[in-house]
Amino acid sequence: MRSSQPALWLKDPLAILAEDAGRGIVVRDGRIVELVPAGRTPATPEVTAFDAGNHAVLPGLINTHHHFYQTLTRAVPAALDRELFPWLMALYPIWARLTPQTLEVAATAAMAELMLSGCTTTTDHHYVFPAGLEAAIDVEVAAAKRLGLRVLLTRGSMNRSQRDGGLPPDSVVQDEDTILADSLRLIERYHEAGEDAMIQIALAPCSPFSVTTSLMRSTAALAGRLGVRLHTHLGETEDENRYCQEVHRCRPLDYLEQCGWLSDRVWLAHGVHFNAAEMARLAGAGTTISHCACSNQTLASGTCPVCDLEQAGVGVGIGVDGSASNDCSNLMQEVRAAFLLQRGRYGVGRVSHRDALRWATAGSASCIGRPELGAIAVGKMADLALFKLDELRFSGHGDPLAALVLCGAHRADRVMVGGRWVVEGGAIPGLDMAELMQRHAGAARVIQRGPS
Ligand SMILES: [Zn+2]
Repeated sequence: MRSSQPALWLKDPLAILAEDAGRGIVVRDGRIVELVPAGRTPATPEVTAFDAGNHAVLPGLINTHHHFYQTLTRAVPAALDRELFPWLMALYPIWARLTPQTLEVAATAAMAELMLSGCTTTTDHHYVFPAGLEAAIDVEVAAAKRLGLRVLLTRGSMNRSQRDGGLPPDSVVQDEDTILADSLRLIERYHEAGEDAMIQIALAPCSPFSVTTSLMRSTAALAGRLGVRLHTHLGETEDENRYCQEVHRCRPLDYLEQCGWLSDRVWLAHGVHFNAAEMARLAGAGTTISHCACSNQTLASGTCPVCDLEQAGVGVGIGVDGSASNDCSNLMQEVRAAFLLQRGRYGVGRVSHRDALRWATAGSASCIGRPELGAIAVGKMADLALFKLDELRFSGHGDPLAALVLCGAHRADRVMVGGRWVVEGGAIPGLDMAELMQRHAGAARVIQRGPS
């Protein structure tokens, strides 16, 4: 069979995070088809060469936790200097003003920022559904398709408001039947199976303090029946521990298990406060953790015990988390933040720059159940991030891959998703960045100010 796409040889990279690929890699039909060792030329016939001599090449970075809509509420004065619960209480009324138009520009901004930082696959966790925003996930799907980013969008939910002892106001929650019906609709309409899937859907009740036990159980049952993944926040703060003890008479992980959620279908955002026995249970179940270093530090939630989790056998990926607690969506900066935080906790012998890069690639791929992503190897999807080291911050560097993390790379020069360039020369072809920023800033002003 003739291939539909000419083979592309990424030739002689400055550095590459792969074994035996000194002369680069060959990409064809959306996949990596050959690694070219030092001193050799490609065995693949009819290759076109791309000179990667100025590029350090990484597997595309994978973001395992985000809330796109929060790019409209960065550094909001009312939420500054607060821990999670009061921070949420300050922001819920602002988020209740989201509309399809403001979400579209927020999601586009978030994904563009991610792509420009070297991200090739992202998740999003959208759980705020005020009246009028019923088609939130449809809006995000359309934005992702326009940008060419690979996504796992989660249909989030909240149905336990202040009226029922939860944290969010009544205006941002939905009832269980509505949530389940929309979850089914979205999976049937958008979820792609297969290794080349560009759009996938998962289900994601928000947290123990904003969702009923009934919805947790019915969501897990639906996900199991339809073969999609499950996501939620867990083990984020001590406040959450206290809430679970008071309301459910157990710790958050016990509650999760009671809801039928301790499984290899599940990845959890944060995982800061698990004890050793709980880590063993997570490992036994195959449940994985999205480590959100910037968000945990901004909200002073604690430090995720990443090395202890990995030693126990728990897979760990990286997430930028929402832009109200990070407050940026730069995944390469998040890699550096995770490296510094975990190096500080565990010491030089246990955490290297390679570990941080591994968390954001193969580790993140395990969180989202996509083993065909997150590595440069034959047969993997051709999702790549290429960085130039020509800025002042890199001047005089030694090891190029270490320099990306240690010197603070934050902008990819080129990004490839499924064999297609989606970032070239540090820009997204077809995206008018000045126009996007103008619309985004306008939307943020409207949503933060409220009705005049
Ligand atoms: Zn979050």
